[in-house]
Amino acid sequence: MLIDGKKLAAELGAEIGTRVAALKTQPGLAIVVATGDESTAWYVRSLLRSADRLGIAARRIDLPTDADAATVRAALAEASAQGHGVICQTPLPAGLKLADVGMAIHPAVDVDGANPVSLGLLASGSPAAFPPATAAAVLRILDHEGIDLVGKRAVVIGRSNVVGKPAALMLLARHATVTVCHSRTADLPAVAREADVLVAAVGRPEMVTADYVKPGAVVIDVGTNATADGGLVGDVDTASVEQVAAAVTPVPGGVGPVTTMLLMSHVVTVAERGGR
Ligand code: NAP
Repeated sequence: MLIDGKKLAAELGAEIGTRVAALKTQPGLAIVVATGDESTAWYVRSLLRSADRLGIAARRIDLPTDADAATVRAALAEASAQGHGVICQTPLPAGLKLADVGMAIHPAVDVDGANPVSLGLLASGSPAAFPPATAAAVLRILDHEGIDLVGKRAVVIGRSNVVGKPAALMLLARHATVTVCHSRTADLPAVAREADVLVAAVGRPEMVTADYVKPGAVVIDVGTNATADGGLVGDVDTASVEQVAAAVTPVPGGVGPVTTMLLMSHVVTVAERGGR
């Protein structure tokens, strides 16, 4: 079965619209961009459109593509001071790491979990933390599908601060038994086959084939890999995995649209909490 992320995103959009209508002040979002990357520009445009449709005042703050860490931090700190949601868009200029500059985003407005403090709050189970929206989308999809995680074996392939690690922490908080895999994991297919819930956040087109999947497992494909013809494929070879898995998210139309809506939901939460 293919999981319909677009349908879930539409449901979330309706809920967000109701929450925005109940607010006295308009929620806001600042997206700091320091790249000329075309797919990033496309993504930012789609965020601005989604925000607009939901009644969120989103703006893009452009920095030079060779901005140094101090410049990016200053822009993020200034945006944080406005009291609305803040995103630091990647990729960053050469040599800069999100974890370093993300520290300038105040955790109260860190709607995509870029500040390592937010990751620490998430690890310690604090409800104040905003998890990265993509990791939150993984959990929201599993919840929407009615997957009981308690005592289940979950395997996450990928250990980045923005997807793999926070997704693993969130699965752990829901009482799954979690294994995190990466590029040095020995016999990855065998480890993956232990999973009742398999999350692929690797960035390798269609790497996860049917031999990675236990029959009846639920597979969440976070990967977004551009194809030569301008399309998008995930980390999962959906055609073969569909034959063994109970359910799998497609790419596009799976995790992506849910991620966008959860990002917007976090922005509204900032406003509901009265800003920073
Ligand atoms: P990343 O920072 O490059 O991390 C990739 C992870 O995969 C690393 O932990 C790496 O291991 C591991 N890995 C790489 N090759 C591997 C292999 N052959 N076997 C096992 N593990 C391997 O990427 P990311 O930012 O987490 O993103 C992952 C994917 O999700 C990308 O396709 C990205 O475009 C996509 N993404 C999607 C959304 C969305 O909304 N749908 C949002 C964010 C990202 P090491 O740590 O050992 O290097």
